[in-house]
Amino acid sequence: MRIDDLRQRLRAFGAGPGHQDHVLRQWLHAQPLEGGPRRPDAFLPKALRQALPQLADELAALAHVRSEHPGADGSARLLVALADGQTVESVLLPRDGVCVSTQVGCAVGCQFCMTGRSGLLRQLGSAEIVAQVVLARARRPVRKVVFMGMGEPAHNLDNVLEAIDLLGTMAGIGHKNLVFSTVGDLRVFERLPLGRVRPALALSLHTTRADLRARLLPRAPRIDPAELVARANHYAQITGYPIQYQWTLLEGINDTEEELDAIVRLLRGHYAVMNMIPYNEVPGLAFRRPARARAAEIARTLHGHGILTKLRQSAGQDVDGGCGQLRARALDAEGASAPAADGVPVRVVPSARADRRGAAGAPGGPSAPA
Ligand code: SF4
Repeated sequence: MRIDDLRQRLRAFGAGPGHQDHVLRQWLHAQPLEGGPRRPDAFLPKALRQALPQLADELAALAHVRSEHPGADGSARLLVALADGQTVESVLLPRDGVCVSTQVGCAVGCQFCMTGRSGLLRQLGSAEIVAQVVLARARRPVRKVVFMGMGEPAHNLDNVLEAIDLLGTMAGIGHKNLVFSTVGDLRVFERLPLGRVRPALALSLHTTRADLRARLLPRAPRIDPAELVARANHYAQITGYPIQYQWTLLEGINDTEEELDAIVRLLRGHYAVMNMIPYNEVPGLAFRRPARARAAEIARTLHGHGILTKLRQSAGQDVDGGCGQLRARALDAEGASAPAADGVPVRVVPSARADRRGAAGAPGGPSAPA
């Protein structure tokens, strides 16, 4: 469902723009639809008042929590079931953030990412994206939304921008606290500056080498990293927010001295933050996580050359750390890729895993400050 469909439903019950905004605000703040500062019986049309319980049920069915996995760092991974039984992952981040998914699966096919292995299964509607924020708000305050969960937001641009517009205008979330994450797509650089809500931009760079990037991100648009950085830099100048570069550190692949030199040449003097995220090892994939000391040395070296660098850990790294692993594990447990039935009670799974795999870094997933 899209936000426009929802407004249309409200209009069908006689809701004018003010009534629609009232109901949407209640939903966005995870409050009862019939509540609010003004008395609904004196404010909302009767047909709308009578329809609110049914609408509330429909909104609740858009997304509900199948299981919840608290992490040791204060984050919590949520396996979220959609109305058709498909599942996506959301992550409650420390310090009032939430990371949401924008697609079921992903077509980019990053070689180090579990989500990329399934390909794209379907797009999320803008209302399904927003519903993940509402689920988060029902659990804790949310002041920041990062679009870094399953999926490539650029491949579902209309729905993601619709969600960003609603969150930035009616949900009380600052525009720079809405973080659009992408592997880099020309449509993003064209469309983002045009919105009335301009989000911050996170760009998953991973390497400065075009040939290596084509191998690691096989179905990302073939744009030279230098051009990506130039376009991102232009967006930073328009918005006044720094670009957040994401770099999943892969041992022996993109943690070399040559890469560090190239990063310095590419980013020095730019309004940007480089987030270095040591890879979260995934069974069956050959990529390795660099040693902690090497990761720290990389961050120090870049910092010493004037590149603001943060060494970050994937949020909830102790709970099937990388994006897509939770969903994959749930599908394994169900023994098939068919969607499970709705109405399964929420399970809260403790974070201390006996078979903890001891790695961090969520390719395509959120990172929490180290
Ligand atoms: S890392 Fe992100 S863009 Fe790449 S396959 Fe995974 S979800 Fe898609």
